[in-house]
Amino acid sequence: MGNEDISKVLIPEAAIRDRISSLASEIEVAYSGDITVVAVLTGSVVFLSDLMRCLPLRMEIGYITVSSYKGESPTEPRLGSISLSELRDRDVLIVDDILDTGNTLRLVQGMLRGHSPRSLQTAVLLRKPSKAPPDVPAEFVGFDIDDMFVVGYGLDFKGRHRNLPHIAELRV
Ligand code: 5GP
Ligand code: MG
Repeated sequence: MGNEDISKVLIPEAAIRDRISSLASEIEVAYSGDITVVAVLTGSVVFLSDLMRCLPLRMEIGYITVSSYKGESPTEPRLGSISLSELRDRDVLIVDDILDTGNTLRLVQGMLRGHSPRSLQTAVLLRKPSKAPPDVPAEFVGFDIDDMFVVGYGLDFKGRHRNLPHIAELRV
């Protein structure tokens, strides 16, 4: 019902939960104190909410919105709304859903570097290593996946399927 264009489950809910808890441990040991998490909305909302509850660090949360995908064909990413507190001398962790061509995170990382944070690192739930370019670092990666179009757990196709609790490959 309503999921007729979804094909097979790629990453089940329990596997995501397990990986996020180990990813949170990796992140926790990388920081000693207060961090500012900058979420790239909208795709990262589910990942953000699960990850932050596994992170026993003092944190502030800011967000930026970036639009880049229209359905399955990529367009140039554009910054939308921005809500950030002072980032100068802060340890900033970007949280995004997926590193694909890297165009989105290149834009976001460049913009945030302009705010002179003390450090800038990036956590993504998914990465497509066959496409991710070397100039766009992601220090914390949940899962590497093949070059396919996935939905669920925050990721959409034409605004739908973000609420699936697992990651699924979209049927073409
Ligand atoms: P990039 O700019 O790295 O090519 O793509 C980043 C953005 O495109 C992601 O934040 C996400 O919003 C969207 N995107 C990239 N690959 C996928 C995918 O497989 N599925 C979905 N639903 N969105 C994707
Ligand atoms: Mg995104």
